[in-house]
Amino acid sequence: MATQSEQVTILVTGGAGYIGSHFVNRYLQKKPFTHRILVIDNLSEGNPEAIENLKVLYGERLIFQRCGIGDAGVTTLLSDYGVSAVVHFAASALVAQSQVEPMLYLRNNVGESLKLLDSMQAAGVKNFVFSSTAAVYGTPNTDLILEDERKSPVNVYGRTKLMVEGMLDLLNERGALSYVTLRYFNAAGADPSGLIGEGHHEETHLIPIILQVANGRRKALKIYGNDYDTPDGTCIRDYIHVNDLADAHIAALEYMCQRPGTGEAFNLGTGHGDSVQAVVSLSCQVTGREIPVDLCGRREGDPPVLVASSDKAQQLLGWKPHYGLEDILKTAWQWEQNRKFCLQAT
Ligand code: UDP
Repeated sequence: MATQSEQVTILVTGGAGYIGSHFVNRYLQKKPFTHRILVIDNLSEGNPEAIENLKVLYGERLIFQRCGIGDAGVTTLLSDYGVSAVVHFAASALVAQSQVEPMLYLRNNVGESLKLLDSMQAAGVKNFVFSSTAAVYGTPNTDLILEDERKSPVNVYGRTKLMVEGMLDLLNERGALSYVTLRYFNAAGADPSGLIGEGHHEETHLIPIILQVANGRRKALKIYGNDYDTPDGTCIRDYIHVNDLADAHIAALEYMCQRPGTGEAFNLGTGHGDSVQAVVSLSCQVTGREIPVDLCGRREGDPPVLVASSDKAQQLLGWKPHYGLEDILKTAWQWEQNRKFCLQAT
């Protein structure tokens, strides 16, 4: 039994969600038994099965409280559990929805994050890892995006994430908070254990949709535009395995805790882009199935090319991605065939 002084407890918001649950798994897998995680999630998007499956592996090292990040009781939770750092995944994250429901995104992503920061201040917790997005860059002028590229988000989702980044900067400048912001490119894949994976109630992402088509749960993939200025005319994205993302959070926590006063943003990608067409072709090989496609018009707000330079994360955090696109597709295909939650095709 760990003594009070040896015990490290971190709070993870949105730990029942896709990226959050993979972080919980990797953290508890890699860290000694003295480390535990308190997850708060209101389950509006997250899957309780993800927590149940992880509980089987980690028992009492994983504590779950169903509540919102802005709830009044969060300060007490932070104090009672002796939380030393917060990793904040919980957010509304559907670009198309954000365009038509801006108030929802302001409330959930900005307002609730502010309340969480307020609770942290009240409880004296000063370390924060924030999930941000490549969407803060909008349509960049460069093919390989560095962290200091102009921030000009083209959708409400990206704008709300950038607003929180601004709040963190402000608090950091005033000496009130250490933070690391992680700007994700295209998260995909699943943990090889098959226990957790991508399970959105409303699926909009390319790879899970392709694999649902391969699995016969959808008729065809709609390709949104093949007239972009790219070699095959389809959009290029930087797909990064969710476990690589999760590991970057662990490295970010260590970096920040060793350097009080940290205020840094890092891109998380592989530095390599694949077109929609290339992802479809490789998916046919990995699954051995036909993947019918319908060529459709462009989707509003889709930049032609988004590829990260992740040199900064590699140099400062000592992190690098280990999975390639084929591994991403193999693990996502295993999950699609044996998935434990969110079975409906949408
Ligand atoms: N995409 C597509 N059909 C779909 C879903 C996505 O052609 O059903 C394309 C989309 O236009 C983008 C790429 O796949 O160019 C990745 O989209 P996703 O929604 O997975 O991530 P995003 O880059 O928008 O965050």
